[in-house]
Amino acid sequence: MDFKIVAEYFDRIENVSSRLEMTDILAELIAKVPKDEIKKIVYLMQGQIAPAFEGQEIGFGEKLISSAIVKATGFSRKDVDERFSKTGDLGTTAEQLIEGKQQGSLFVTELTVEKVFANLQRMSTRGGEGSQELKKKLLAELFNSASPTEARYIARIPLSNIRLGVGDPTIMDAFAIMIAKQNDKEFEEKKEDDRRKIKIELREQIENAYNVYSDLGEIAEILKEHGMKGLANVSITPGTPIRPTAAERLPSAKEIIEKLGKCAVESKYDGFRVMISKDNDKVKIFSRQSEDITDMFPEIIEAIQTQIKPKKCFIEGEALAYNNETNEYYPFQITIQRKRKYDIEKKAKEYPLKLFLFDVVLVDGKNMMNEPFRNRRKKLESIVTKGDIIELSEMKIIDDPGVLEEFFEEKIGQGLEGIMAKDLDAPYIAGARKFSWIKLKRSYKGTLDDTLDLVIIGYYPGKGKRTQFGLGALLVASYNAKKDRFESIAKVGTGLTEDTLVELESMLSKIVSKARPVRVISEVEPDYWVEPKYVIEVRADEITQSPMHSCCKKEGKGLALRFPRMTRQRGDKLAEQATTNKEVEKMFSIQKRVSMDYRQN
Ligand code: ATP
Repeated sequence: MDFKIVAEYFDRIENVSSRLEMTDILAELIAKVPKDEIKKIVYLMQGQIAPAFEGQEIGFGEKLISSAIVKATGFSRKDVDERFSKTGDLGTTAEQLIEGKQQGSLFVTELTVEKVFANLQRMSTRGGEGSQELKKKLLAELFNSASPTEARYIARIPLSNIRLGVGDPTIMDAFAIMIAKQNDKEFEEKKEDDRRKIKIELREQIENAYNVYSDLGEIAEILKEHGMKGLANVSITPGTPIRPTAAERLPSAKEIIEKLGKCAVESKYDGFRVMISKDNDKVKIFSRQSEDITDMFPEIIEAIQTQIKPKKCFIEGEALAYNNETNEYYPFQITIQRKRKYDIEKKAKEYPLKLFLFDVVLVDGKNMMNEPFRNRRKKLESIVTKGDIIELSEMKIIDDPGVLEEFFEEKIGQGLEGIMAKDLDAPYIAGARKFSWIKLKRSYKGTLDDTLDLVIIGYYPGKGKRTQFGLGALLVASYNAKKDRFESIAKVGTGLTEDTLVELESMLSKIVSKARPVRVISEVEPDYWVEPKYVIEVRADEITQSPMHSCCKKEGKGLALRFPRMTRQRGDKLAEQATTNKEVEKMFSIQKRVSMDYRQN
């Protein structure tokens, strides 16, 4: 397929602001893409060239892209830099300069999706051929054959930021529309309500498949080749991560027992969530973002072979640094030190990890996702042998709020985060936050005592002492999962250490956007908008109603945070895994409820 057609569709998508319209255009594009090229298009839209767990990353620096533009257009570095400082986007810069160049050139060979993809693959970090010079040449080659619109995307793709405003939910919606139209030629003539119902149903099935097989490119290919019936064969597979389940919140032991009745209550450990796939001697560890983080955990890989009996399985747990001398858990700040590329063996000796397993979803080819938790836990207990590294999460069956409260206090006393209560009858609900898991952290006393994971959507350069860091405060947003949008909720200026300021400034300055990014909703204007990419953890005193912020805005009132402060970066979360509007609304209502109880007592 000609890349030009794709670029023209991308251009149309970029120029509409209604998500419905955007989805329709995308559905039209994917209907046109041949089945052997759909994977590539989906990955490119995700800012990737392969599923995240394969580690074939693109995401090069601006310098490389600028050099390639210089090489391809003949403009000087100064010209490129000047244009870039005006446009704020290397894509537009490339587009304008290629346009200038083309007035003088006659020969343009057609670019194909295959060619664009092949060059990007050769440039990629894993399996790529290396040197900066070669990367520049491969990119310049693409610019040489590109039309101005194509050049815009060719520049943005290797930055891993195509700026279409299309996230995974929108891609899945577009597939649902494409299938609906294929299945029923009269689909467009149906009543709005009927069309919506059909779309929702199809989308749900597509998402269910994606939840157990985190490769949207592969799912897309199956849909193109076999339609919805192809999804019946999509199942949990060793080597491919699933999308993790998540926990709801309730404010007290009493409400948890009211909701679940007799339930399993476990310690809530504060470390790395790990999904482990064992396929004989091939062990892989995935993060909650579906990235392959196997190399970070040499001691766990070793222990899997000795402590986990089945040859094939998929298990889940939390890994954290543990002091064997004192039998104490280290705080998260120590565990996180393992997140590094070098000297892992040294860190492993200094702060060895323990792995607390809490779930199993596949054993020797048997998919256990639909088994009730009580059976999965029993299975888990039967497949782990005693050893130094791997243990089961501590668990008690409890049906009494008083006993739950006691267990909770005991865990807090041991330096843990709190507890996780689990519905004994619930299946493993991949990719969703449901009441099958409920978390309880330190007790709420009428103020907000849980943290939120929020997406940075903008920043302000520092004032006074902070000028030197180029960053003084952040504008952050929660995620509106229904609309696939990020809605402003707070400006965060405290909790940022000098090191964090420096690090964040360097990360954020690379993803600055001249205008408000399409997926961002905010009436508060920061000095610099950034693409919604990075997540930070924020603690606040309270959720309040405010006309300023856009989160959950109704009748002119949104939700905002009072006294927000950053507690840490959440590099393990994708923007789409940030706290959702629905969660903020629930936290707000819990806060109101508890605040009333508290006052009454
Ligand atoms: P939090 O910041 O509260 O950890 P989160 O958004 O990171 O929230 P949630 O899904 O809300 O994640 O909470 C579940 C997380 O708690 C899991 O991702 C996992 O990392 C961690 N965890 C610790 N102990 C357990 C346990 N026993 N069972 C399940 N999850 C656990």
